[in-house]
Amino acid sequence: MPADLDISDQHLVDGVVGRQLRPLAKTITLIESQRPDHRARARRVLEALLPHTGGAMRVGISGVPGVGKSTFIEALGLLLIEKGLKVAVLAVDPSSSVTGGSILGDKTRMELLSQRTEAFIRPSPSAGSLGGVASKTRETLLVCEAAGFDVVIVETVGVGQSETAVAGMTDIFCLLQLPNAGDDLQAIKKGIMELADLIVINKADIDPRQAAVAKSQIKTALGMLRHSSPNWVPPVLTLSALKKDGVAQFWDEIMRYRDTMRGSGEFDAKRRTQAQAWMWELIDSGLRQRFREHPQVRAELAALQAAVAQGETTPAAAAHILLNHLSEH
Ligand code: GDP
Repeated sequence: MPADLDISDQHLVDGVVGRQLRPLAKTITLIESQRPDHRARARRVLEALLPHTGGAMRVGISGVPGVGKSTFIEALGLLLIEKGLKVAVLAVDPSSSVTGGSILGDKTRMELLSQRTEAFIRPSPSAGSLGGVASKTRETLLVCEAAGFDVVIVETVGVGQSETAVAGMTDIFCLLQLPNAGDDLQAIKKGIMELADLIVINKADIDPRQAAVAKSQIKTALGMLRHSSPNWVPPVLTLSALKKDGVAQFWDEIMRYRDTMRGSGEFDAKRRTQAQAWMWELIDSGLRQRFREHPQVRAELAALQAAVAQGETTPAAAAHILLNHLSEH
């Protein structure tokens, strides 16, 4: 336990580990705060919580708006609760930081699940860049684990870079698709299919035959891609979230994945790699911030940028001058 944990921080840590909802919510609010003193407290609390983390299955779920993510997550969450598990649902919504509005996080979603005491649903943090939003969600994920949630679902929309961020913080990344021909091609183009450990064709109830066609198309497409694990071929499932048809099979596949990856040692290796990549992301963004805040950089940046735009200075020379300021005091 770090020596500098004061009484109020200790209270939060004890509350989270004791699985109390208020300290959990308070800790997450602290994590989401931009205030430097809150950031420092959040770091201390997280450090103290770290030994209690790692126990959840971390499931990433992505898909375009309207594909049925919230319907699916609600059905899955209720199934897991039936199995005696506790479920947290977090979100990474890139739109929330750009527009202040949100594609994912309104309160009417997952109404049944949100009423259950075994479930905890938290909308996407809204402040900052995608990197900032993702980083806060990662920290929140750890807090939820320390609070004893067995499954943490991280939801994101099928736009932008948010998928890469969510795939980088979860054990298994699942892509929800509509049974439209061509939809799969979009995902391949954007490089998302390569991230997927599991592909779900939702709304199969509307036209089961078309869903079956989509399934075989996606399987063929997957055959051309190389999955990151030599021991896992991403399965393609057809499912109806609305009718709760196929949701149990989905969870069976998640468990099969976990067992396979644990068996080969890849499960823990992936988490180690993710933690290191996260550290480097924080170093990169921290350096960038320090750079921008450096007085000499602030004094010269605009003029050098203009000089580069005019062709009066090379980008390399300008970068060299500015970066050199970082080593000055
Ligand atoms: P999200 O934007 O990805 O979260 O999608 P929603 O869960 O809000 O679902 C969008 C719409 O699709 C809603 O009207 C749902 O009722 C409907 N929907 C979701 N899953 C299914 C399904 O399996 N079958 C059918 N027919 N409709 C579905």
